Amino acid sequence: MENQKIPTKIYLSEDEMPRSFLNLKAFMKEQHDPFLHPGTLQPCTHADLEPVFCKELVAQELNCTDKEIPIPDELINFYKMYRPSPLVRAYCLEKILDTPAEIYYKFEGNNTSGSHKLNSAVAQVYYAKQQGLKSLTTETGAGQWGTALSMACAYFNINLDIFMVKVSSEQKPYRKAVMETYGGNVTPSPSNTTEVGKRILAEHPTTGGSLGCAISEALETAFSKEQCRYVLGSVLDHVLLHQSIIGQECKLALDKYGIEIDTIIGCAGGGSNLGGLIAPFMADKIEGKNNIRFIAVEPASCPSLTRGKYAYDFGDTGKMTPLLRMYTLGSGFIPSPNHAGGLRYHGMSPVITKLYHDGYMEARGVEQTKVFDAAVMFAKTEGILPAPESAHAIRVALDEAIECKKTGEKKKIMFGLTGTGYFDLAAYMAYNNQTMTDYIPTDKDLEEGFATIPAIPQNR
Ligand SMILES: *Cc1c(COP(=O)(O)O)cnc(C)c1O
Repeated sequence: MENQKIPTKIYLSEDEMPRSFLNLKAFMKEQHDPFLHPGTLQPCTHADLEPVFCKELVAQELNCTDKEIPIPDELINFYKMYRPSPLVRAYCLEKILDTPAEIYYKFEGNNTSGSHKLNSAVAQVYYAKQQGLKSLTTETGAGQWGTALSMACAYFNINLDIFMVKVSSEQKPYRKAVMETYGGNVTPSPSNTTEVGKRILAEHPTTGGSLGCAISEALETAFSKEQCRYVLGSVLDHVLLHQSIIGQECKLALDKYGIEIDTIIGCAGGGSNLGGLIAPFMADKIEGKNNIRFIAVEPASCPSLTRGKYAYDFGDTGKMTPLLRMYTLGSGFIPSPNHAGGLRYHGMSPVITKLYHDGYMEARGVEQTKVFDAAVMFAKTEGILPAPESAHAIRVALDEAIECKKTGEKKKIMFGLTGTGYFDLAAYMAYNNQTMTDYIPTDKDLEEGFATIPAIPQNR
């Protein structure tokens, strides 16, 4: 084993794929604070959540005790079409950096949706189908989630209504075309198909929309249709649960070659890929079996972990969701318009929030021009054009490897390469033209967002 050369791509066979989702919460010494019903401020029950989400997903959301939740065969069969995803040893990157560090990345962009989001999309649609639901609704901003969900709904033959932020649907017509090809009904939001949409259009006829407004339209549609539920692509515990297949595959592949990772790095928007990537490693850390450093990377322009408040807040700008205790910039926070690099969510997964708050992981904010420096260097050396979101993790992996060069440490660094950037070429164009700028919000900017955090007794 000692001198066995590690292949560039460490593949698992189909038979080695994980057969259960790993429920990190069942390993945690303390659970995150419960979701609160915004009306009563009491913890949400199954009955509160089931009119909104599929029954099985609610059960998963509230499950803090089962360490493993079996993956149904039909889901495994779908996963087999694009998984296991490769764990790559970044030999070319190591060479160009001239670092003694070993760098590994898990590539989740090898499916048509171009990101890890398909892992949870297909699970969520499977459970909806099992329940006998006829249709689903969701919102999409950049479009990755809407694409992944369209693919999953096409496979399981379920109707899908996607409310896509109007500016995004105009700026990314090809994203919209992919969703429509898979049969998703894309409605630019705000629209006149919902009461909330009509209200917003009456007040702001020329608005380009927002994620908050799109969520409100998707929720209203789910409530008003028979046999219909709303689905979400990040933040919630059941989404992290499904993404645990990423981390489990990494661990199996590393164990094959006896590789003991020192540092794991992931980008953090709502926290789902990061939660999935770290799941089995964090479970071991909690049980005292390793001493891995975990680093969450976020944009300096949307710094929920590094500069946010630990408070109960709404998940959306429309203030329709349950209250979640998380690191938040306030649901009214809007990142600066020159922010191109994704990861623009105001809050953070409650599981990631709790782990960070309890000192199990670190967080770093990075500026977007430095993120794109890393993205382009990675594209040129490793051959994959990364999603801007993924490039946040690349940036910090490079920084860590460069640090090893100074100290001579042979650290083993792994990061999540969550997706490809083919639909983000406008951001690459801005970088290439040197019109991309950095904006770090001032304390005063952040105060405006914090002012939108609800002043409930739990936040005092
Ligand atoms: C959605 C997305 C992210 C961020 O979402 P998380 O829930 O934080 O994982 C990161 N990378 C890509 C490519 C995405 O599509």
